[in-house]
Amino acid sequence: MGIGDVTRPLCRAAVEALKQASDQMGTEEGFHGYGPEQGYAFLRDEIAYYYERTSGVKLFSDEIFISDGAKSDLGNILDIFDIDNVVAVTDPVYPVYVDTNVMAGRKIIKLQANFENGFLPMPTKDLEADIIYLCSPNNPTGAAYTKDQLQKWVDFANAHGSVILFDAAYESFITDENVPRSIYAIEGARSCAIEFCSFSKTAGFTGLRCGYTIVPGGLVRDGIQLRKMWLRRQTTKFNGVAYPVQRAAQACLLDDGHKEIMENIAYYQKNAEVMAKTFSELGWPYTGGKNSPYLWVKCPDEKESWAFFDELLEKASVVCTPGSGFGQNGEGYVRFTSFNTHENTEEAMKRIREFFS
Ligand code: PLP
Repeated sequence: MGIGDVTRPLCRAAVEALKQASDQMGTEEGFHGYGPEQGYAFLRDEIAYYYERTSGVKLFSDEIFISDGAKSDLGNILDIFDIDNVVAVTDPVYPVYVDTNVMAGRKIIKLQANFENGFLPMPTKDLEADIIYLCSPNNPTGAAYTKDQLQKWVDFANAHGSVILFDAAYESFITDENVPRSIYAIEGARSCAIEFCSFSKTAGFTGLRCGYTIVPGGLVRDGIQLRKMWLRRQTTKFNGVAYPVQRAAQACLLDDGHKEIMENIAYYQKNAEVMAKTFSELGWPYTGGKNSPYLWVKCPDEKESWAFFDELLEKASVVCTPGSGFGQNGEGYVRFTSFNTHENTEEAMKRIREFFS
């Protein structure tokens, strides 16, 4: 039995919006062709309102760019940066940040994330980086930066002229008041940070594809607004997201749809609780589970990631993700996901308890 990321189906409100918009596309008056490349105003305005009500953050609609997902944007954003820019990533890391920069040929510095710092590395005096990737809540470790910690990163970036690329793909899993859902909840972030977000994990758009990137007007480097650079990049290389998909995304932020997607989040959170309880009972140290759909578990008996993966598979027929695939510091850890059914999660935890108690 596998427990890879299995998101719940699209909510009813999204399906209805998708159907209606698809029907419209077959009519003279409702047909939508090219553009706007940066996304329709109805969705950008709705996202701005979502930020205001969930984070107290005010965004201008023209700072929000709709795309076919955060992964594309995280790779594409590099088009607006110089090849000589030095990049800092955490280790372990969501591999997209590393691989896209390796393909481009940029120098990469690793920020050491480990059990001692709660997998949340902080800026050091000797750090020299033009681009800093932060992912909070983190994939794979589930760790999430507090307001004070993020403030230190923002202050560092503003003092050094660095740009933070902030991946907020898991913001809707945050429950702690002290953990910001957006970097723009931090003072000074508008002059140093670009934020990426996605409807994939929040609303099950893993197959439908929709995400967005926020580039604030106040973010200026070498006298140039990065918002304008990104707009130019997108209008040059991208022709926008399908109209029905954008209508479906909008539906997920409106009353009924939002209620439904938050019920799904609560469903995953329940799975995370069950897993956290099991690992605590077994005495397996872990991070995440709270504010995050992932639990990052230290392999028992100092086992290596793949050795423990094999053991779990052979003894309990349970699949996890070996931590070593996320970087050197991931060796000796595995990642468990709460994106699954209650039944599968309960069954997997039951088997783990049977074989490892
Ligand atoms: N960012 C993080 C941290 C992720 O874990 C993922 C997907 O696993 C993505 C971005 C990709 O999101 P999308 O499906 O919108 O491309």
